[in-house]
Parts: sequence; C-alpha cells; structure tokens
Amino acid sequence: MGAFSVWLRCFMFVAVVVGAIHNSSAATQQAPLVEITAPQIEFETFPLEYYVAPDPTTPLAKIKTERFTPYQSKLALGTDAKTTWVRFRLRNATQQQQRAFVHFPEAYHNRSVAFFKMSQQQLVDQVQIDLDNLGDTPYMIRDQAVYDVVLAPQETVTLYIQSVSFSHQWFSLQIYDEHHSRQALASSQTDIAVMIGILLALIVFNFLLYFSSRSLENVYYSLYLISGAVWIALSYGLLANAFGMYGTFALHFHLSLLSMPLFLIFFMIAIFETKQHYPTEHRVLRLLSLLIAADLVYGFFDVVGALRHASSLAGLMIILTLSVGLSLWRKGHPLAKFFVFGHVFFFIFNAVAVLYYKAILDFSYITKHGVGIGIMLEALMLAFIVAYRIKMLEQVKAGQEQLRIEAQTDALTKLHNRRYFSQRAQELLARARAKQLPLSVITIDIDHFKQVNDEHGHHVGDQVIVQLAELLRSSTRSQDVVARFGGEEFVLLLYRTSLDEATQIAEHIRYRFKAMPSKLNAEQELVVTLSAGVAEVDLNASSIELALQEADAALYEAKHRGRDQVQVAKAQLQNERLSTA
Ligand code: GH3
Ligand code: MG
Ligand code: MG
Repeated sequence: MGAFSVWLRCFMFVAVVVGAIHNSSAATQQAPLVEITAPQIEFETFPLEYYVAPDPTTPLAKIKTERFTPYQSKLALGTDAKTTWVRFRLRNATQQQQRAFVHFPEAYHNRSVAFFKMSQQQLVDQVQIDLDNLGDTPYMIRDQAVYDVVLAPQETVTLYIQSVSFSHQWFSLQIYDEHHSRQALASSQTDIAVMIGILLALIVFNFLLYFSSRSLENVYYSLYLISGAVWIALSYGLLANAFGMYGTFALHFHLSLLSMPLFLIFFMIAIFETKQHYPTEHRVLRLLSLLIAADLVYGFFDVVGALRHASSLAGLMIILTLSVGLSLWRKGHPLAKFFVFGHVFFFIFNAVAVLYYKAILDFSYITKHGVGIGIMLEALMLAFIVAYRIKMLEQVKAGQEQLRIEAQTDALTKLHNRRYFSQRAQELLARARAKQLPLSVITIDIDHFKQVNDEHGHHVGDQVIVQLAELLRSSTRSQDVVARFGGEEFVLLLYRTSLDEATQIAEHIRYRFKAMPSKLNAEQELVVTLSAGVAEVDLNASSIELALQEADAALYEAKHRGRDQVQVAKAQLQNERLSTA
C-alpha cells in the first residue's frame, strides 16, 4: 500500500504540474480533465482545482469567473477555507454510455455539500445536501455523499462541488463505476470498527476492574476511553453511518475532544496520587482541569464557540500534562515514564493530524488517522499503566504480608516466636474449650548448652538449635503451635492432646534428639540432650499461663533430677486444679 501510494502521488504530482502548465498556456482557463476510457472506472486521486469562497452564498455564476488553484482530489485546506469549491471536467472517451459515481466520503462532518453539473456552459443539474436537514435525499448514503453522472459516448461535463465545513476543510473525492461504488461504501469502515472494538473491550474490562478494585482511576480511564471512542466514531463517520447523526447535532459530540483530556487529567491525579504526594503537580493538573471543564460547560450552550478554544486548550493540555509526567519521572514515580511514552505517542500522532487538518501536511493514512492512532496508542499505554499499578499494589501487599510473617517468626529456626504463640494460645484454648478437647503444653530446654557453645563455638550451638527446631516441627501436627521462646528454650502447645499423650510425645522428642548427633567434622560427633516439662491446660482457665508455669516447674524438676528426662507437672498440683474446677 505504501509503495502504491507513493506511485500514486508521483502520478498526481506530474498530473498537477502538467495541468498547471497546460492551464497557464491555454488561452481560456479550463478545469482539469478526467477521462473515462473503459467501463471500469476507479479514480481514487485525480486532478482538479479549488477556490475558497468568502461565504456559502456566493452564486455559481460568480464562482465560475473566479481564479481556481490547480490541486488534486484529496484536500486539506485548514480553517480559513470553510466554503471551498472544486471543479473538474469528466469526459466519456468510450463509445458506450457510462455511469460514474462521484464519492465525497467525508460529507458527514460538513455543514453542507452541493454538486453542480454543467454541460456546454449550461447548468443541467444541481443537488444540495444540507446535513442539518437531510430529509430523504438519496445523495447521502450513510456517511458519504454520492452523486452519479450519466455520460453519453464522447460527452464531457464540468462538475462543480461546494463543500461547507464547520471548521476545518478537508475531504477527498473519488470517481467509481457502479461496482466499485458499492465496494467503497461497504469497506469504508473497517479500520474504524477495529479501533472502536479495541476501545470498547478496554472500556468493559476497566469497568470490571473497577468493580473488583473500587479504584476510581479505572472509572476515569473508562470515561477517557468512552470519550475517545465517541470522538473516533464521530470523526470517522461511524455516528453518521450507524445512527444517522449529521450536521450541528453531530457536531456536539466533538465536545468529547474536551471530555477526553479532562478524564485523562483525573486519571493522572488518581494514579500518581498527586493530591497526597505531589502538591505542585496537583495544582497544575487541577487548574488545567478547571479550564477544560469551563470550556466543556460553555460548549453545551455554544458548541462552535467552545471548539474554537479546543485546539489551544489541547496544546496547553499536552504541554502541561507532559511536564507533569516528566517532573514525576524525575522525582522517581515508577509509572511516570510509561505515561510520558504513551503521551509522546499521543502528541506526535495528534500533531501530525492537526498539521494535516491545517493543510500543512499532505494527505496520507497516518495524517488522516493521526488522532485515532494517537488515542489508540495512548489508551493501550494507559492500560499497561493500570496493570502495572495493580502489580505494584500487589507487591506492597506482599511486602506487608512478608513483614507480618517476619514479625511472628524466629529468624534462626523459622519457628513462631513468643508473641505469635500467645495469640494462637488464646484461640486454641477457646476452641478446645468449645469442643471439650484436651490441650497440653511441653517446655523444653537443652542441657548444658553453655558448654556446647564454649567447647565448640556459637556456630555449632546454632546448628544444634536448628536441628532441634526441625525435630519439633516434624514431631507435631499443623494445628499444634511450636515456638522458640528464646535461647535454647522451646514451648509446644498441643491441641486435642491429653497429659499422657503429651508426655509420650515429649519422651519421643527427648529420645530422638539424643539419638540425632550433630556432626562436628568428618570424625567427631556431638551428643546433646534436653530436658522437658509437661502440663495439661485447664480448659476453664482464662489463659494457658498457669499451665506454662507448671510445665516450667516440671522442667526445673527435670534439670534438678539430672537432666535428659521428661517431668510431668506435679500430680498434686494437677489434682488440686481438677478439684477446684
Ligand atoms: P542447663 O542444662 O541448666 O540448661 O544449662 P545451660 O548451659 O543450657 O544453661 P542455660 O540454659 O542457662 O544457658 C543457655 C545458653 O544458651 C546461654 C547462651 O550462651 C546460649 N544461647 C542462647 N541463645 C543462643 C543462640 O541463639 N545460639 C547459641 N549458639 N547459643 C545461645
Ligand atoms: Mg536455658
Ligand atoms: Mg539449657
């Protein structure tokens, strides 16, 4: 397509130059000639000439005498050419009658379009299309104006076309036979439909995100996308095509050009949290949003007046939002650089389009679709930002979760610490009481541990502690709580476990620990023992504190009796408690 359009342009250029030379050399100025040489008619770009009239009321008789400028059939003449006339001659060089269809695809956003047919200096036909009052004109087919001309063999007619725009004057003309005319009408909307489709998918997705996240940024982003979709639908003729909206009524939808940046600013405020963290940038964005909002409100009363400021506001908006993005990037906001990238795309493609509308750049796919492409690219970048922010929030959450876990975990053994133990103890006590299930505690202290440290070093001591921790973990169930209370002291809280069962478990641990020597080096092994105290929790007590004291007393007893043994809390103590219960 690229190469084709380049060739086409070269051809046009030659045609225009040849036309110009021809014109200047001819005694009377004649309109450029388009010659039909076969029943297949397909002129997508052809020479013509244009004249900018001071107002729409100048009659054809006067227009005919004006000096026209040679050009080609894709025009962009800016805002000073609201009433533009074009003319060219159409000649049937064949020996059969031909029917040619002149297409004006951008008619939908005009105020009016008119066709005049002259044959031998006589006006033989004229068609006025008032977009504010279409009636049942057959010349407006969805978004395009189509005027058909029947030409006898060897007949030549001169066509004058008047285009009256609301602001910018840009349009293209094509001439087709009936078959190609139908084809052009059918295929004109594919790229727009794709753009709108993508935007709609993003809109739905974002509303769904909002319902799960409740973050306002998703709402602003959706409203920004809706504005963009409305504007694309309007400026590419989809509103005319699908809903029959034309003229001044359709012009109101251009206010989406104001609501789009407004919601973009709200989105920035939300996603960068400028209110909380960046007061200067926040003030800039607030001020800008107020200006745009004021013009938007004004637009509901005077749409043409409001749109007059739209392009300067758009320029200001681009500069300020880009500056804010850059400033936040410099201050290290992780999302700012993505925003700046997306916004630069938006800026470049919009600039290209604006230069095209203002007749500074020539017609091309990029210049004609610049705004749409810019909106699409920025929308996709913003979608990425939304996703990236979700990831950031997840990381913050994961970090908090990590801190929470660390706050209740012992660093060396990864067992729970005393704080977590107390918390869980209350829960387990309540559960055991509700179900009337026994609950027991075991306190454990390694024997002569100071000696281990002194003789083999702190490092070996640590290794022994870790080994014991692993043994305790593997000797208990998930609903039990194993905690390191400090140094080489551990406490086990065993759910659904009677005093007898707890004693057996303690014995088992003592036995296995002793049988599990630590390797000092290749030859030497170290045997360490432990002592334990066991007590059952009184389910009617308000806490397990008493049981812990009893188990501690039993542990002390075990140490006293020579270590490497398990002692059960004193029987009389247990009985005493049972009798008072
Ligand atoms: P006993 O049989 O009476 O318990 O004698 P003990 O030497 O084990 O005496 P005690 O329990 O009072 O001594 C605990 C020692 O444990 C003191 C300290 O040097 C050591 N210790 C405490 N925490 C750590 C630790 O995290 N790593 C190492 N390697 N040693 C520790
Ligand atoms: Mg100790
Ligand atoms: Mg000890």
